[in-house]
Amino acid sequence: MLTADYQRLDRDHHLHPFTDFKALGKEGSRIITHAEGVYIHDSEGNRILDGMAGLWCVNLGYGRRELVDAATHQLQALPYYNNFFKTTHPPAVKLAEALCRLAPAHLNRVFFTGSGSEANDTVLRMVRRYWALKGKPDKQWIIARENAYHGSTVAGLSLGGMAPMHEQGGPLVPGITHVRQPYWFGEGRLGEGRDPSPEAFGRLCADAIEAKILALGEENVAAFIAEPVQGAGGAIIPPESYWPAVKEVLAKYDILLVVDEVICGFGRLGEWFGSVHYDLEPDLMPIAKGLSSGYLPIGGVLVGDRVADTLIEEGGEFFHGFTYSGHPVCAAVALANLELMQSEGIVERVRDDLGPYLAERWASLADHPLVGEARSLGLIGALELVADKTTGARFAKSLGAGNLCRDLCFAQGLVMRSVGDTMIISPPLVITREQIDDLVRLARQALDETARRLA
Ligand code: PLP
Repeated sequence: MLTADYQRLDRDHHLHPFTDFKALGKEGSRIITHAEGVYIHDSEGNRILDGMAGLWCVNLGYGRRELVDAATHQLQALPYYNNFFKTTHPPAVKLAEALCRLAPAHLNRVFFTGSGSEANDTVLRMVRRYWALKGKPDKQWIIARENAYHGSTVAGLSLGGMAPMHEQGGPLVPGITHVRQPYWFGEGRLGEGRDPSPEAFGRLCADAIEAKILALGEENVAAFIAEPVQGAGGAIIPPESYWPAVKEVLAKYDILLVVDEVICGFGRLGEWFGSVHYDLEPDLMPIAKGLSSGYLPIGGVLVGDRVADTLIEEGGEFFHGFTYSGHPVCAAVALANLELMQSEGIVERVRDDLGPYLAERWASLADHPLVGEARSLGLIGALELVADKTTGARFAKSLGAGNLCRDLCFAQGLVMRSVGDTMIISPPLVITREQIDDLVRLARQALDETARRLA
């Protein structure tokens, strides 16, 4: 079939996620046909450097034979069986053990799901069940953050803090409230408070959590949920002061910590989990995406001893689960993915080599007239587009500078994502130094072209 045929069928029959259906119908989709390493190919013969690892998930890159073999073997041995009602199968058991070995020491149990959204639904169920079992059924409120993304199910979107999603998704799950995000470039630098430094702003954001706890009554607050680095919200790397201050607040009021590792997990920040990078001890840790490098859909919640022991010893049957919880083929691929990441030292390479290298190369873009800030950590990075470099003033929303830059990037052979006027990268963890050079070169080219068009 030709590109135009795919586009016609796509327009007529396919409703895409997070898409203006009508606008897409007019423009037509780009058809991705195959991929290898860090490159995707489209039906027009273009090769494009995938600076987003699909949707932050293809950590091992495309075309890994070992993952295909793991799926093939498992499909032949046992393509499906469930984990309900006292049954299981080798891939689920082995993956559970491997995950708990890699996770921080107090996380010794995992509940499997089919996705990150389902993982966060599971979090909500577990948190509320835990406090009910502890004889504190009033501890219901969950504090999340504005502009957070925790998935698209009703629980996921309620935990998330994205205003446009809330507007379309109501009524939301009750008992969830949101506090400000530690977005220094977007909010902190504007000088709120007496000290506009990132560190002071990080503490201000932690204070907002404490104020919310006190407003709700500490006896009513169950948990706080956040990503180590906020991904879909705009690759928001918190000031160093933020997490230590948040930890203190949560400990003071006995509030559970849920760290959403759906993006940050599996090497993105140069550790197996973002929680390790920030020295966090989550009670619950939702995971997905990089768990299987996106080759097959699988997610889960790693559960700390405190919550797990209570659910096990005092909980009786937990009425929750998905047909595909711990699907054998997905689990076999995830296991093979973790084994490859270990044997190839992927996480260490991000921490010791690629992360620092990207940081240096990415920072070189800060001299561009459109760039107000260039930040990165491990292999996640962002550029803040500004109309005026000296004042940091943004472009008028109507100009759509971020989307323009994203489209120009794609046209030049690089996938970068835009969140408003924040440009984001999150490339496969197998990217080489030379490919990082290429990524930065293509990003600069796209910035130049964006500047020309906006002039
Ligand atoms: N949590 C975070 C932090 C995410 O970034 C995402 C997806 O982007 C999710 C949860 C939802 O995961 P899924 O799309 O697999 O449902």
